This record gives sequence, C-alpha cells and structure tokens, in this order.
Amino acid sequence: MSCVLWWVRDDLRLHDNQCLSGLQHGDRLLPVAIWPTATPPVEIDCVPLGFPRSHTRRLAFRQQGLLALREQLRARGSDLLLLEGEARVQLAELAALVGAELLRCSHATGSEEVAEQAALQRMLAPLGLRSQIIWQHTLVPPDALPFAPDALPRVFTTFRTQLEKVWHGSPALPTPAQLPELPTLPSEYWAQSEALAANPIPPAAADPRSAFPFAAGERAALARLDQYVFQRRALGHYKETRNGLLGHDYSSKFSPWLAQGSLSARQIHAAVRDYERQFGSNASTYWLVFELLWRDFFEFTAARHGPALYWRGGIQRKTRAWRHALSDFQRWCQGETGDDFVDAGLRELATSGYLSNRARQNVASFLVHELGIDWRWGAAWFEHHLLDYAPASNYGNWQYIAGVGNDPRPLRRFDTQAQAQRYDASGSYRAQWLDAAWQSSLG
Ligand SMILES: Cc1cc2nc3c(=O)[nH]c(=O)nc-3n(C[C@H](O)[C@H](O)[C@H](O)COP(=O)(O)OP(=O)(O)OC[C@H]3O[C@@H](n4cnc5c(N)ncnc54)[C@H](O)[C@@H]3O)c2cc1C
Repeated sequence: MSCVLWWVRDDLRLHDNQCLSGLQHGDRLLPVAIWPTATPPVEIDCVPLGFPRSHTRRLAFRQQGLLALREQLRARGSDLLLLEGEARVQLAELAALVGAELLRCSHATGSEEVAEQAALQRMLAPLGLRSQIIWQHTLVPPDALPFAPDALPRVFTTFRTQLEKVWHGSPALPTPAQLPELPTLPSEYWAQSEALAANPIPPAAADPRSAFPFAAGERAALARLDQYVFQRRALGHYKETRNGLLGHDYSSKFSPWLAQGSLSARQIHAAVRDYERQFGSNASTYWLVFELLWRDFFEFTAARHGPALYWRGGIQRKTRAWRHALSDFQRWCQGETGDDFVDAGLRELATSGYLSNRARQNVASFLVHELGIDWRWGAAWFEHHLLDYAPASNYGNWQYIAGVGNDPRPLRRFDTQAQAQRYDASGSYRAQWLDAAWQSSLG
C-alpha cells in the first residue's frame, strides 16, 4: 500500500489523466490543489502596465473548474483538498503529514511553472519522497516525436510533416470508475478547504454576445465536445467556418478547457476519429487535428527555449526598436485605435475573455506593425484577459506575429481593413461590438 499526493495543476479532469493511472487496490490518494487568488500587477522592464496578470474572470473560471473537479472526485469516493499559498511549502508539509511516498503532477509550461516544479522536487528528495512530473498536456507525447528535443524543427510545416510520417494517434485513458481512499488528515485541513470553496469569486455576468458562454469543468468540456462533434456535426465543416467571428460553432471553443486541462487533446482526437468512422473523414476533420498540432508545436518550442518565450528578441534573439508609448498602448487595450475591425476585436476580448483566432491575429498585428509597440505588452494584455491563456500558445503566437518566433516569413503584417472586407463584409461583427456612433457613421 502506498500513499500518493496528486498535485492538481492544469489537469482538472478524471478522463485521460496519467496522474490517476496504475493505482493499486489499497493505495491512498490525496488530490490537492492551490486555490487561485489575485495575481500580481504586470511590470515589463520596470514599466508597470496597470493591470494584474489575470483578470478575475479567469480566476473565477479556474475556481469553478476546481469545484467541478471536486464534485467528480466526491462522486467516486474521493475529494479535493484546497490550499492557499505557495505550492511547494504547502505540499512538502502535507506530504510529511500523510506519509506520502510519491507526488504526482502534470508538467506545466512556462519558465516559472517549470522552476516551481523543480524547486518542489528538490525540497521533496531529502524527505525520501519520489516525484513524477508527467508530460500529458499535448496530443503527441514527447517520446513519439521523431526528433530529439534539442533538434526540434523551427518551422511548423517541417515539424508536422515529419511527425505525420510516424505518429498516427495516442490513445486516451479511460475515466477510473472508483478512486483510492483518502489518507487520514487532521480535520482542520478539510475545514480550511471548505472555507475556501465556500467563497469563490462569483462568475462574471454572462454577456449575451460572448462566443464562449460555457461553464468551467470537465463535465461542461465533454458536453461541448459531444455537442460540437456529434450533435451539431460542426466538425464536418470546421475548415470552412474556422475563420468566422460570430457565434458558438464557427470553431470548437475547446481552448479554455484545454488550457485548464478539463479536456485532454487525446480525448478530442479520439472523438475526431470516432466521427470519421461514423461519417467519413474530410479536410475539416484533418484540420482540427492540424490545429492541435500547432498547439503541440508551441508547447514543444516553449519547452525547448525556456525563458526566451518571454524575451523581447524572442527565440530568434532579434533586435528591433520597439516603442513603449503607454497612451497608445492603452488606447489599443480599450479598443480605441480608430481601426474599426481592430477595435471590435479588442472590445470583444475585454468584454468576454475570448477572441477568435482571426481577430487575435489582426489585433496583434496592429499593435506590433502599425503602432510598433513592444509585442510583450500585447501578450501581457492577452494573458490578463484570455480565458484560454496558455503561456506557450500565447507568447508563441505573439512572437510569430512580431517576427521574433517560429515564422519563416520575416514580417507577418495583416492589412486589417482588407481583412475586415474579407471576413466581415456585412459589418455584423463590428456592429455587434462597436457602439451606436460607429453604426451611424456607416450612414
Ligand atoms: C496572438 C495570439 C495569441 C493566442 N493566445 C492563445 C492562448 O493563450 N491560448 C490558446 O489556447 N490559444 C491561443 N491562440 C491560438 C488560437 O487563437 C486559439 O487557440 C483559438 O482561437 C481558440 O479557439 P478554439 O478552441 O475555438 O479554436 P479551434 O479553431 O477550434 O482550434 C482547436 C484547437 O486547436 C488549437 N489551436 C488552434 N489554433 C491555434 C494556434 N494558432 N496556436 C495554438 N493552438 C491553436 C487550440 O488548442 C484550439 O482549441 C493565440 C493566437 C494568437 C494569434
């Protein structure tokens, strides 16, 4: 019999979770998570940007995700212990208290997260506690890659084509029907956990225009997977609709759950294959997996380049004179640049915490190429607002657009008005997010 501490990070799920696999009858399992609270203000090169890392909307979404996981665990005879404070101190204390032999957690991207898990490992080793940090957030596991981590291709197409020759899928693990019993723990721990759970940040009032009106947690994520793929069969025309701007089904909207790990990429892949068996494969079913490979590409790139993900010169260490004009930046943040397509996107982001990929590319391009402002400021604003914020995808995509990342093209500049003509010819998207003054300006 052994006692395992599961440090819940961005893996808020029971399906396809290796932290829950291989547990024996009679083992003890203590799932534990740090309750998210207010984040520090953002400062880049000593310039305070005037907002915290995370908007309360994402904190609330994470808290709701944790509470949803707690329900799922309780339904299987377990529970989730919520703690406040610094993870490594809390976890080391707890491990000693329950006599844990093993700590398991999912690998998290981002240099701070990696440093945190390494520091915890160093703290636990002298206590005789083994730790397993499991890489399970990508579709493709690292050992299936046809190249060594330090030989990762710099260009996505090379990454994908080499991978597609050797990798054809990795199975998702089933949800365990039952979980091991909890170890004995002084009751004040559970009382403190209960007190935290009793006071969550209230979810933001839903804006009826939001493209992401969904709840947090695994149950909501799996329901959306089923709805998007099978009930609405929206997967079957994803390639034609994915550049859309309005509504729920132009794209999958899986990203906020993927970021928290309430949905696994392998579970999505399994659903795509299932759909193909039932209704046939087409360019759209291929394309959703193609996009998940983009996500993987950014994850492996972030792991390969470490802190360079956040450097001004990016992974290319490129020198460029960026502007640091706070007032222009603030106008961009508020959606008051004067470019109606860009402003609509920025208002959608600030109002709902979600933005389509098409709009993300346009607002990012405007900041770095039209205003010449440091791309890291824009990335920080996205980090603040996005429900689906993920370090690798956010900073990776920003670097790509700023020309300091993986893009083989030196300049990825979008003509935002041509984009508006192409993707919002009727003006309905701008009408939805801009005010009456804009609408009357159309005459
Ligand atoms: C400047 C910028 C910042 C971004 N920041 C983030 C971020 O913080 N978190 C995040 O998850 N995505 C980010 N993206 C990628 C992309 O915009 C979102 O993943 C996508 O819009 C989410 O909506 P969806 O789930 O409906 O996507 P779908 O079109 O349905 O795609 C399915 C999944 O594929 C993955 N995917 C699709 N496009 C990309 C891409 N370009 N890069 C990486 N993965 C992709 C996502 O996991 C997505 O959920 C960013 C893109 C840009 C241009």
